[in-house]
Amino acid sequence: MRNTSPRLRADVEVLRQASEIYTPNVFQMFQEEYLKVWDCTIDKISKTEVEVVYKVIYVGRGTEHQVRFEFSSQGVECSCRKFDFVGILCAHALKVLDKKNIKHIPKQYIMKRWTKDAKDGQIRSSTQIQGGSKELIGKRYLDLNYNFREISTLAAEKDTMVRRKLVILDKLRVVLWCTSKMIRMQ
Ligand SMILES: [Zn+2]
Repeated sequence: MRNTSPRLRADVEVLRQASEIYTPNVFQMFQEEYLKVWDCTIDKISKTEVEVVYKVIYVGRGTEHQVRFEFSSQGVECSCRKFDFVGILCAHALKVLDKKNIKHIPKQYIMKRWTKDAKDGQIRSSTQIQGGSKELIGKRYLDLNYNFREISTLAAEKDTMVRRKLVILDKLRVVLWCTSKMIRMQ
């Protein structure tokens, strides 16, 4: 029988957990992100009774991000917003979790749609993507998210670019809506 277990590039608990829950493509993406943790520097910016805020820098990029960690919920929120865009934790947030001695992915950050248990069609029903296997649809979704993330990063640097991006997104929304209508009529 073929061994389908993904290869772990480091024998650590977080990766073992990720390899068990995520689909192979998502696991590879998570693993790439996790390996960056070792190249991240971390400094505390502020602390209250509720939360602590860190400045985290990935030396490969040199960009600074702020990560808030809430004690009661063990919630992490990073200014790069990778989790919102892609659905996996970023290296900055993982760095903070590691700093807090949390050696697993907290439940609230495991998106059902990226797990092996996700029902086939869950993504389809939410995004109206038609055709292809669950794995393929998931990969397309991730690719699109990455592309949008790059565009957002560029646009966010200038206010006028943000406005222009929103106008273009509105046009894109209309084009996609019309295209999906045409496909359904075929
Ligand atoms: Zn981040």
